[in-house]
Amino acid sequence: MVKLRDKKGDPYVVVKERLARETGTIFKDHGGRLSVALLYPNVYEVGMSNLGFQKIYHLLNLRDDVVCERAFLPSKPETEFLRKHRQTITSMESNRPLNEFDIIAFSITFEMDYINVLAMLALASVSLRKRGKRVPLVVAGGVAVTMNPEPLAPFMDIMFIGEGEGIINPFVDKAIEYGSGDLSNFASVPGAYIPSAYTPIFKQDGTIEKIDAQNGFPEKIKRVWDIDYRLTPNVSRVETPDTVFGDMSLVEIGKGCGKHCRFCAAGYVYRPTRHADIGAIETAIDDALEKKGKVGLVGSAIADHPYVERLFEYIITKGGVFSVSSLRLDKLTDNMLHWLTLSMERGGSHTITVAPEAGTERLRRITNKDISDETILDTMKRVAAAGPFRLKLYFIVGLPGETMDDVKGIVDLVARIREAMAPEWKKRGRDEVITVGVDGFVPKPATPYQWEPFEGVKAVAEKLNLVARGLRSVPRVAIHPGSARQGYIQALLSIGDRRVTDMLENAYRLGGDWSKVFRESDIDPDFFVTRRKETDETLPWSIIDHGLRDDYLARELKLADKGKLTKECPPPDEPCRRCGEFPGVCVPKNL
Ligand code: SF4
Repeated sequence: MVKLRDKKGDPYVVVKERLARETGTIFKDHGGRLSVALLYPNVYEVGMSNLGFQKIYHLLNLRDDVVCERAFLPSKPETEFLRKHRQTITSMESNRPLNEFDIIAFSITFEMDYINVLAMLALASVSLRKRGKRVPLVVAGGVAVTMNPEPLAPFMDIMFIGEGEGIINPFVDKAIEYGSGDLSNFASVPGAYIPSAYTPIFKQDGTIEKIDAQNGFPEKIKRVWDIDYRLTPNVSRVETPDTVFGDMSLVEIGKGCGKHCRFCAAGYVYRPTRHADIGAIETAIDDALEKKGKVGLVGSAIADHPYVERLFEYIITKGGVFSVSSLRLDKLTDNMLHWLTLSMERGGSHTITVAPEAGTERLRRITNKDISDETILDTMKRVAAAGPFRLKLYFIVGLPGETMDDVKGIVDLVARIREAMAPEWKKRGRDEVITVGVDGFVPKPATPYQWEPFEGVKAVAEKLNLVARGLRSVPRVAIHPGSARQGYIQALLSIGDRRVTDMLENAYRLGGDWSKVFRESDIDPDFFVTRRKETDETLPWSIIDHGLRDDYLARELKLADKGKLTKECPPPDEPCRRCGEFPGVCVPKNL
């Protein structure tokens, strides 16, 4: 009797079905081209929502001498299938084993995906370290790598610091000209960090004395940012219904945020803040509406875009609907609410997401998220009056300078928000649910809080519990507390150095059992996670020039200690050099 192949979990079958549902996929012949496998270290549904990943796929394939194909973290059944049948991961477009590509390139947004990077390399039958002839070349980029490449550095041949637009072409040119044998050929590529050329030297107390660079390699790697971003905003290139945003086409309307909240990585790592050109966005919106009829506007600071109201109106008058990723509380105008309501009535999003972050005015001031309770309550009242919106709120516990009053203040503020909104809901005969997300503060590199500690699993867990317990007494609130344990691990991978690498590799080998990893480790992870660093300490990411003035972040930290505010970025037409030198955006090119 013929035995049929068991297709359950077969990645080939899964991929075929996905490809059939996609539009915009690029298929190219491999003959004579540099082949790049572009990997997202999480599942397809997550990776395909990432516009940065999509942009790299697009930019690489724009070149006729390159073929770029995608691969994602296999699901559990797919992984089991691959192991059972002794198969390796293959690319989506040509079903080619990843280890047959010239280059394996990871696009990494979140530190918690680092463990998946190792899993994917192993499933691709590529050694995690010491790859000898270095074929394929293993490289990584993305915002997590840009902030601090060190915890992943020993697994990578090259890491890219900054935005892909200014990196890809010089890198590909070198790869085509020289191949992958001698990594020094890539030393002059903008943003290229070649970890094997750098050696950290440690002091007796475990802190870093210096990081030695080999001859011919730059002392510091300058973060690359895209000066032409305004005219080429990121958009969905490959459309699929298989993501959370599957019913809409995404358009990014800006990069970064000029508010200067001291805890927020997005506010610093994407500087200078850039708003996409209104004409370029409208063209992207036209395209998005034609494809899906629904646009997802994304960006760290949607409400800061100088033409945001015009964009909302544009979509509505074109007969479309839209949703937005999140909105700044103090910038939510009645006009914006008007367009959001019309969009909702046509089947657009019912949810408005805002992030007060801290429960009290005092702590919001310390963190430079200076929004008064009055503004929050007034805005929420207007939201409730505008339409039957569902509200999602985000808070952080464990922020530097926090007291227990600030933690209790979260419960109090949510209760007052409910009180402010309830009468408006009542007029409509409704009683909406408020969703509250709370997480522990994780210090991020290249922010004013980069020297601050993660408060500790016990302390953060207690605060998360306190908020969750307190909110149980507030009617119709759904609370989603984060995990203090996950916050600790995230902090380790965010602010750790190369000594974290062994722990990460063990975590992968132990199937994510971090408790066992920490028990078995010779290094105390608290050294990285819960220790406050001096502002003159050499930090693991000191090899990166993030583009900020040397004293800028330390000055911001001092201002935080004093509870003093920093003004947000001035309007685009007002020259500014406050945090760095960004010609063509913050100052005219020739100034
Ligand atoms: S230089 Fe000024 S405008 Fe530019 S990012 Fe820094 S603070 Fe903002």
